[in-house]
Amino acid sequence: MSDTIVPPASVAVIGLGNMGVPMGACLIKAGYAVTGFDLLEPARQKFAAAGGRVANDIAGAVAAAEVVIMLLPNGKIVRDAVSAMRAHLRTDAILVDMSSSDPILTRKLGEELIAAGFEFVDAPVSGGVKRAANGTLAIMVGGDAVAIDRVGVLLAAMGTSIFRTGALGSGHAMKALNNYVSSAGLIATIEAVLIGRKFGLDPVLMADILNASSGRNNTTEGKLKQFIISETFADGFPLRLMAKDVRTAGDMAHALGITTPLADLSAQLWEDAAQALDERANHTQVLRYIEELGG
Ligand code: NAD
Repeated sequence: MSDTIVPPASVAVIGLGNMGVPMGACLIKAGYAVTGFDLLEPARQKFAAAGGRVANDIAGAVAAAEVVIMLLPNGKIVRDAVSAMRAHLRTDAILVDMSSSDPILTRKLGEELIAAGFEFVDAPVSGGVKRAANGTLAIMVGGDAVAIDRVGVLLAAMGTSIFRTGALGSGHAMKALNNYVSSAGLIATIEAVLIGRKFGLDPVLMADILNASSGRNNTTEGKLKQFIISETFADGFPLRLMAKDVRTAGDMAHALGITTPLADLSAQLWEDAAQALDERANHTQVLRYIEELGG
């Protein structure tokens, strides 16, 4: 279809939360004309403070946009937002769902949008708020190769590791599976520290030993001392979103007829923790939930 989208093209960012604000700021820095929208006024204010232009409704955000990026809590909300914006989109708009959405919903929504003449790709991210702010995210992109080419330069403004995962929805599938693996490392690390601490091991020493040994993982390296032992629980990834991702991975297994006992147990554990803890709890606060189970 059209050419690669380069600055100063117009871009809309829908969803100005933990990720939308820093990722939108990277696009501004790269020279794009970015208009953001969020249902919440404080979120809109945060984006304005980061140098973004803000619209008061979704129609105003997408009207001029060649690319519409979504950073929303889940795939159902993405569908609602797309319904609200659809009549206001440019006919050549490309929609990029960078949220961690359910891949099956993504396929369905994408097929509808493509049948209506729009382009749609899924491009979820990994790396958290820190790498979102630095523009060094990992991005996994699914969809039509020509559509992905169109947004290649734009994605490179937000991420440094960009992977093409295959057909529409495959980025979202990979993202859910990544977070399942990451969450399993987190739970195992927390349980090991609780056991070790009660046995008399020093948790800080445990972190050092894990990081020099075969138990090393993303949690031991980047979360254990920083957010868990320090009890700051402040890395910007809410527990409710982790619960969603792990459930998505489990649902994929069921849909594909694969038995995955650990994924099922994990999904239940995260959902129970999400029920038990405050809605704003960080995912590292799953420690509190496991502690309260007793022992
Ligand atoms: P968040 O909850 O901080 O932000 C989501 C924003 O979307 C909120 O400000 C909310 O008000 C807004 N919103 C909800 N419905 C809306 C609608 N219909 N129209 C406009 N705005 C709407 O979430 P986040 O942490 O920024 O995550 C966004 C997505 O990225 C999620 O799918 C998440 O799983 C994924 N993700 C998050 C992280 C992280 O570290 N936070 C990392 C990787 C991926």
